[in-house]
Amino acid sequence: MNAGLPAEEYRKLRDSVLATIWDELDPLEHQIEDTETIPYDIVMPALRSCGAFGLIVPQEYGGAGLSMAQYLPILAEFAKIQGGIRAIVHVHNSFAHALSEIGNDAQKKEILPGAATGEKSLAFALTEPGNGTGADLSTTARREGDEYVLNGRKWLITNSDIASHFLVFAKTSDKDVSALIVPRDTPGFSIAPLPETMGCKGAEHGELTFEDVRVPVSALVGAEGEGGAHLERALEISRVFIAASSLGTASRALELSLNYAQERVTFGKPIAQRQAIQRYLAEMAADVYALRGMLADAASKWDSGKRIPAESSLVKQFGLEAVGRVTDRALLVHGGIGYTRKYPIERLYRDARLNWLEEGTPTIQYMVAARELLGGYTFEDAFTVAS
Ligand SMILES: Cc1cc2nc3c(=O)[nH]c(=O)nc-3n(C[C@H](O)[C@H](O)[C@H](O)COP(=O)(O)OP(=O)(O)OC[C@H]3O[C@@H](n4cnc5c(N)ncnc54)[C@H](O)[C@@H]3O)c2cc1C
Repeated sequence: MNAGLPAEEYRKLRDSVLATIWDELDPLEHQIEDTETIPYDIVMPALRSCGAFGLIVPQEYGGAGLSMAQYLPILAEFAKIQGGIRAIVHVHNSFAHALSEIGNDAQKKEILPGAATGEKSLAFALTEPGNGTGADLSTTARREGDEYVLNGRKWLITNSDIASHFLVFAKTSDKDVSALIVPRDTPGFSIAPLPETMGCKGAEHGELTFEDVRVPVSALVGAEGEGGAHLERALEISRVFIAASSLGTASRALELSLNYAQERVTFGKPIAQRQAIQRYLAEMAADVYALRGMLADAASKWDSGKRIPAESSLVKQFGLEAVGRVTDRALLVHGGIGYTRKYPIERLYRDARLNWLEEGTPTIQYMVAARELLGGYTFEDAFTVAS
């Protein structure tokens, strides 16, 4: 059970992060979109000083230890502004949270206090150029005495330009996947940039190469061969984080559309008075409302210690479909000017498309959810009738 921070302390922290988001980070949008570069000299101190990197690090390691019900609305707020910043915050917090659940005491003591302040920066390395996602990996970690020797390649790894530590998934036998922590400066480990992305600009998602990279056995997270189970556990909550990002982007697109519809006059009337536009707005609001409800349910179950394997895939899938519909309609409400950079609609539209990919594509979400349901998984929520 995680109740998070007491209400008053939470309000103070949340207000401080929100002030940073809107007063210090949002004004950087055009600079980042123009240069496709994040000004780290401004962004990192701002994120560090408001505590954004320690939001879900447990308090014993210097973090705020927020519950998911407290964290998700803050993450959603990040998804309203420039998406590259949201990607940095999401990946860092996701890894820090995963490590707090699956790391041993020594690993947590070594990494989490620095992660909570943002002095250490984290990345999650699963995806490979020549293989599928999950167990289909060709990166290997061969045990030699008291070391593992890593060989292989990863790509599309967010925070590859700034991370001090990478959680790397590799095969430790033909069948087994294990998770290892690899520091950035380890000999044989090289990192190269990939071409710029469609949205969430400025964040770096690079290519990692491991050539006989040696790490001590103490870099192994959990036991050898437990990587698959760790991955499932990490993705279970991380998919909910992506759904919260979808909610933030969709909510901002709706807010902007409500404003614009009341300002824009055609044939002598604001377009908000036309039934056709009202329908778009109502449909957008229905998606936002439904997604909020699903997220609240998933967060409260997670905070009470329940596993949410089906809910996490379903909310991630619904979230990406919802934000897809909402950003489509927001573009229609804004007409031609929405296609320009006068309003953030075109950026929100592009940024949202990353939600299809992060933490697994739709085909993976369908597969995971169907597997759970066919295996007898049933929902327990406000509609469950007591037997
Ligand atoms: C900007 C960005 C940031 C990212 N950050 C990270 C990160 O930090 N760490 C990380 O590890 N990864 C990261 N990724 C990678 C992301 O998680 C993957 O791109 C995504 O999971 C899809 O994997 P893939 O690219 O290998 O696609 P592929 O596996 O090549 O899939 C291509 C298509 O085939 C479908 N498909 C593939 N296999 C099957 C199957 N067995 N059955 C049915 N359909 C299938 C997929 O659904 C998809 O539609 C990032 C990606 C992007 C674009």
